[in-house]
Amino acid sequence: MTIDILTIFPEMFESVLNASILGRAREQGLIAVEATDIRPFSASKHKNTDDYPFGGGAGMLMMAQPIGDCIKAVCEKRGVPCPSNAKGETPPSGVKRIYLSPRGVPLTQKLAQELSQEQHLILLCGHYEGVDQRVIDQYIDLEVSIGDYVLTGGELGAMVLTDCVARLIPGVLGSEESPRDESFSDEGLLEYPQYTRPRVYEGMEVPEVLLNGDHAKIAAWRREQALLVTKERRPDLLKKASMTAKERERLGLL
Ligand code: SAM
Repeated sequence: MTIDILTIFPEMFESVLNASILGRAREQGLIAVEATDIRPFSASKHKNTDDYPFGGGAGMLMMAQPIGDCIKAVCEKRGVPCPSNAKGETPPSGVKRIYLSPRGVPLTQKLAQELSQEQHLILLCGHYEGVDQRVIDQYIDLEVSIGDYVLTGGELGAMVLTDCVARLIPGVLGSEESPRDESFSDEGLLEYPQYTRPRVYEGMEVPEVLLNGDHAKIAAWRREQALLVTKERRPDLLKKASMTAKERERLGLL
């Protein structure tokens, strides 16, 4: 997969893209991630990327022209078409042009799974008061929000999206770091508590069941704990979680 990030602050991405699992995946060629500076695409003499909003109001807006030209240039560089949505041109399959925006659809594990199936993501990071609507209408296929709060820019959102999508690409996580049992995975539950050495930490013991090597008992205990922690912290998730009738009864949901 290729992820292109369009931003006026490309330097913000250096450490995030080079460190840890993401850095290793890039080194191994499992994923290509590149941040492109929007500013050089500005047609204005001083390479401005923002201007005052029509109709007044606080703050500045990112202009359509530098963003539109940047998206087109990135598509051309990758050899993919850059259709105009406003003209009803068909988006190419395998490519998604995404604007990080508080008005977008919420980023969930399910959406991350779907996006991890794409071949190419183009992530647009807004700034100031946001982006001229026309470039969104023209070149954006999907708006994605990372939560119900407002950030100063889309860069942190693009990092979050890149990180959670990248780790779902086969080979990015080692088998010991499988995403299968995790919170929000197929079962739709939060994860059970986990422990590592030492067996006793400040007088607190690791639950006995995890030490006896009985895998069936361990799996049952983990399942029970996942159900309990989900009920306590995110009862909303239980509505959609896959559970047996017995489990529902035990949790008092029947
Ligand atoms: N005026 C906009 C509004 O009220 O919806 C907020 C603009 S925000 C200050 C600047 C930029 O940060 C946005 O263009 C967007 O790219 C990014 N951003 C802010 N909050 C976000 C969120 N929750 N999810 C994703 N991106 C966000």
